[in-house]
Amino acid sequence: MAGTSSSISHGWRSILAGRELLMKNLGWIVGDGQCINVWDDPWLSLSKQERPMGPPTEASATLSVSDLLLPGTSEWDVESIRLVLPEYETKIRSITLSITRTPDKLVWLGTKDGIYTAKSEYYAVSVELENGNPQDADFDWKKNVWNLDCAPKVKHFAWKLLKRAIPVGERLQERHLDVDPKCKRCEHNESILHLLFHCQYAQEVWQLAPFTTEMEYRGIIDLMSSWPSICAQKCLPPSGVTSGALFPWILWSIWKSRNRFVFEGVFISPKETLSTAIKLAREWCSDSKADPTRPSARINKQMAQGETSVTAVRSDAAWMASSNLAGLGWTILSESGHEYKKRAEYKKRAEFIPSPLVAEGLAMREAIQSYRRSDLQDIRLESDSAQLIQCVNSRTVVTEFHNIVSDILAFASDFRSVSFLWIPREKNMAADSLAKMALNALDNVLVVDAINVPN
Ligand SMILES: [Zn+2]
Repeated sequence: MAGTSSSISHGWRSILAGRELLMKNLGWIVGDGQCINVWDDPWLSLSKQERPMGPPTEASATLSVSDLLLPGTSEWDVESIRLVLPEYETKIRSITLSITRTPDKLVWLGTKDGIYTAKSEYYAVSVELENGNPQDADFDWKKNVWNLDCAPKVKHFAWKLLKRAIPVGERLQERHLDVDPKCKRCEHNESILHLLFHCQYAQEVWQLAPFTTEMEYRGIIDLMSSWPSICAQKCLPPSGVTSGALFPWILWSIWKSRNRFVFEGVFISPKETLSTAIKLAREWCSDSKADPTRPSARINKQMAQGETSVTAVRSDAAWMASSNLAGLGWTILSESGHEYKKRAEYKKRAEFIPSPLVAEGLAMREAIQSYRRSDLQDIRLESDSAQLIQCVNSRTVVTEFHNIVSDILAFASDFRSVSFLWIPREKNMAADSLAKMALNALDNVLVVDAINVPN
């Protein structure tokens, strides 16, 4: 038995005292619904504990919330809901599900963590690029980054790594964001070097990598000075990848696996992470040989000169409290120099929307989702909702729209660069009127309109 005088047992006493209170204030954010029993677990509300009133029938007693979803989708199965819990239909359909199927999440119901109220502050996110690193001057960016034989998005990622502009736990904490700086796989602080080289997970990936030399990755203490020698590693012939081409893809793949783990709870084994890197590197090598007109050279030049063309996506929502209906609107603008050109606009109507904040989030999610399979690489998502922008930038959990923010961040990883920016309402009038139009449409069907504005 542990003594009672130590500070540890004092800590335990507080935890035990708080435990009962905690149990009364925990509730579930529905993700894929697999962990939540329909009758036993509180999942109907995020403001207080609420479970369906029983009693269940013998057949429905063991149902989990996932049984109320259409198989293989993230949509409610209205028929099942009407069959099992008809009196809760509106309540259940007002729970916004995650498109990327986040796992179920147990949360504290007492508070809406991270709610942001100041209206006037201006948030420019993306990544803070640090200047003034004395090594920068000697580092050959062209040779070490822009001329690497890999996809532009991977070069861009390498560049951000070397600029220490990747949002790992330690970097976010340095920027005074209230996040856990720890690695999600072990107890160390998550620095860029830890994540990519020092963590046990990363080491397992590197040990499997088909290089002719064995490098001591734990010995890397400064990425910029070690970079050229890491780049110089030769690949064993059977990998089918030219030397120097694989290493950046491995870094990229470790980062992607980390994000799936952190944001979606999906564990990808070191072996899988490495095979993904090899597969992507191989595809890239054979594609660029097959297609010499590939625009990579042009893009590199643009990036080196800092002239990337950014597409601005402005979204807005209109919400009606009496009916819980929302209109969502978004416009696509391409930016060249200081001019904006409207490319397209969309509107859509949505039902069972519990709050204006959820509506704002949905508008942004629709907007980014519709472009994730396009050839756009650099986008900036703009909204006049300070709270939404604050949440996506800081990755703060607001229980009310945890799923939506998780989806937006998951979709964001498909682009080379994404930033989120607050804009004043006056700049968002076009999206605002689209949202109002969608809301005011008289028919009850979903309206999806695309008006392509000619150049
Ligand atoms: Zn770790």
